[in-house]
Amino acid sequence: MTDAIVAEDVRRAYGDTVALSGVSLSVPAGEVFALVGPNGAGKTTLVRSITGTTDYEGSIALFGDHPRTFDRSRLGLLPQDFTPHERLTAQELIAYYAGLYDQTHPPGQILTDVGLTDSAEVPYEDLSGGQQRRACVGTALVNDPDLLILDEPTTGIDPAGRRHLWTLLEELAETGTTILLTTHYMAEAERLADRVGLLADGELVAVDTPAALIDAHGGETRLTVETTPAPNAVSLDLEYRTAVSGTELVVYDVGPTEIGAVVDRLAAAGLEAESLTWSEPSLADVYLELAGESVEGNIGRSEGQTPESGDLDALTTEGPS
Ligand code: ADP
Repeated sequence: MTDAIVAEDVRRAYGDTVALSGVSLSVPAGEVFALVGPNGAGKTTLVRSITGTTDYEGSIALFGDHPRTFDRSRLGLLPQDFTPHERLTAQELIAYYAGLYDQTHPPGQILTDVGLTDSAEVPYEDLSGGQQRRACVGTALVNDPDLLILDEPTTGIDPAGRRHLWTLLEELAETGTTILLTTHYMAEAERLADRVGLLADGELVAVDTPAALIDAHGGETRLTVETTPAPNAVSLDLEYRTAVSGTELVVYDVGPTEIGAVVDRLAAAGLEAESLTWSEPSLADVYLELAGESVEGNIGRSEGQTPESGDLDALTTEGPS
């Protein structure tokens, strides 16, 4: 089957500023691909190149066609800076965009899909920020696109609205819609994306499944144990790498099923565990490692995922650092 997106050696500069310096990428039909990266990395420029709304060097094909000649009725696009007419109600806004296509979903269905049925009659300017963004996502869905491109679809949306959109995007992916999205939220990329591409300084520095990226770049699990007495009071003989920080002992690379044995070993050495926190590496750790900065405004893992945990009562899990 023809890939939904094939980009080869895509380059773009604005004067002396190089936004994209040779990006190559293939997104098979039906895949959800998340593009992440620091501000200024080139994400929006790549999205705009793919959607034919900016010039570029190199080649891009959407289901085999040039972005500028690709059948617009098969494309759904939510630009980052999309601001619709403020006086239109949510319903009018969706109906307006539906009017641009021959065949569309019923606008009422779109309003339900984005969770705005109760606000159908509210003018766009009176919707909350999160509702406005959901209405904008709705405009990209009216034509039931084969390829959906969303530039930061959930920025500014409250957690409940974000989860609503995640479910909607998962349902669309299940029906075979190809989705390319950019996001600052690593939990979002980790939950939604089949593959994640990290863009930095105009280059794709890593592309893989979230699990493979975490395996390769996420680092080790961390078991943090607060002990009585303080951990440096006794000599430990653990086969794991450890570090002491005040009353806390950090034990690295402990699997969830090994936690009980570690606690027993500590007890045998005279250390009682007062509290335990176990965290596994996440995409945010990958981002920190590869992009060299922590994720701005990131949301915790607890919002997007339920990490697997051991069976100890005192065990808690924490979000990415
Ligand atoms: P991102 O979406 O990852 O934040 P952008 O694609 O918006 O990155 O920007 C990539 C680089 O290109 C940045 O250095 C940005 O300042 C520059 N840039 C983007 N759009 C323009 C423009 N219209 N004119 C000049 N420079 C631009």
